[in-house]
Amino acid sequence: MKSADIRKKFLEFFASKGHQVVSSSPLVPGNDPTLMFTVAGMVQFKDCFLGFEKRSYTRAVTSQRCLRAGGKHNDLENVGYTARHHTFFEMLGNFSFGDYFKRDAISFAWEFLTGDAWLKLPKERLLVTVYASDDEAFDIWNKEVGVPADRIIRIGDNKGAPYASDNFWTMGDTGPCGPCTEIFYDHGPDVAGGPPGSPEEDGDRFIEIWNNVFMQFNRDESGVLHPLPKPSVDTGMGLERLSAVLQHVHSNFEIDLFVNLLKAAARETGLEYTQDQPSLKVIADHIRACSFLITDGVMPSNEGRGYVLRRIIRRAVRHGYKLGQKQSFFHKLVPDLVKEMGEAYPELKEAESRVVAALKAEEEQFAKTLENGMQVLEDALSANSTKLSGEVIFKLYDTFGFPVDMTADIGRERGVEVDLDGFEREMEAQRERARAASSFKTSANVEYAGAATAFEGYVEASVDAKVLALYKDG
Ligand code: ATP
Ligand code: MG
Ligand code: MG
Ligand code: MG
Repeated sequence: MKSADIRKKFLEFFASKGHQVVSSSPLVPGNDPTLMFTVAGMVQFKDCFLGFEKRSYTRAVTSQRCLRAGGKHNDLENVGYTARHHTFFEMLGNFSFGDYFKRDAISFAWEFLTGDAWLKLPKERLLVTVYASDDEAFDIWNKEVGVPADRIIRIGDNKGAPYASDNFWTMGDTGPCGPCTEIFYDHGPDVAGGPPGSPEEDGDRFIEIWNNVFMQFNRDESGVLHPLPKPSVDTGMGLERLSAVLQHVHSNFEIDLFVNLLKAAARETGLEYTQDQPSLKVIADHIRACSFLITDGVMPSNEGRGYVLRRIIRRAVRHGYKLGQKQSFFHKLVPDLVKEMGEAYPELKEAESRVVAALKAEEEQFAKTLENGMQVLEDALSANSTKLSGEVIFKLYDTFGFPVDMTADIGRERGVEVDLDGFEREMEAQRERARAASSFKTSANVEYAGAATAFEGYVEASVDAKVLALYKDG
């Protein structure tokens, strides 16, 4: 089944269960300067969950474009290394605003995945997790849906490990929150990895496909949970992960949509198409993220969202360079992307020439410093092959426009330690110099607007910030 058909089927299924089909919102959340990007389907509905906003419907379904490339939800470092993470991806989600709760959410999910009229996934390949103390969800899965008890895993709160499963979803220190139940697909013993909650869970054998959050409580400032008057449901399923399952491939990068992008990336970098080249995966991933960011109004710049975009473009260009492509190539993938996704996202098609122009300009600008910067980096590595110093990282950043995460990416590839603390010290010294220079100007009675316009980051300006603290800068 093609990705496009899966997207359509999901919307159809939930429409048949009384859900309003709502279109994807942009990657830049509307009216919310505190939130960098749309990281989940629920972002456009956050006020509905809180009861601040009433709509004409209490059930909704979406296919939401999402970006996880910064802040709490950052999968940038995973791309190319895992079978399941992208920066840009599509999240299929159904939502209940004080309408149905656990029982219907669970049975809808099961019916869609395994029902004869729908996806018909083999039940014995599915595993579910519930929040450790959520006996109600456990019993619904076990007694009503019929999932054997040994396929239901209880998972508690995250204990802090980078990937550790966490089945209690919270928006932040306060606000709506609740337990989740996640559905995993077992790709079989040929793939390394263990079930959720096991020490090997970071592998890619058991892949989480769907997360159902039961928004059940409002957490107050002292940490006490108060039941919400109207418990709600927020779910998210990765379209690319589901496509992999239905197309009988293991990795998201092997699905229809990605194979064509990988081929295009190979064409533009003069390689043969292969699944074994992480750089091709990175480029294929990043062309989606960058093109949709520009479509949604973000332009490369040195701060905020624009800097995230710049960082992603530069990472992609550097991966092309690594594959031997020293000419600008990245923008040439846009027509291939439009071919894959333009029908589902007409706004992408409309923005095509704008996207090409913006990417080309950024690539050409970076090309001026990339080669020399790489030379500086190679020289540093031949002087010390185990560690990149803070001074070198700073020089690459300041003089050659190498974003720190890009330098760290190179360090990781080469197995070289990257001194980020040292870099921070260099940055602080530079800030010090800038402060000294600006107070000099001020005392010299020169009008100085710097303080008034300085970028302060994303300040918690409103209740919204707290509401979505979980997704802050995400
Ligand atoms: P994982 O544990 O695999 O990183 P997650 O628990 O962080 O996933 P959720 O926040 O629960 O993911 O998002 C809901 C769904 O969106 C996931 O079940 C998954 O199918 C999909 N998803 C999440 N992150 C990504 C990503 N980076 N790329 C592709 N799909 C994703
Ligand atoms: Mg994750
Ligand atoms: Mg997870
Ligand atoms: Mg999850």
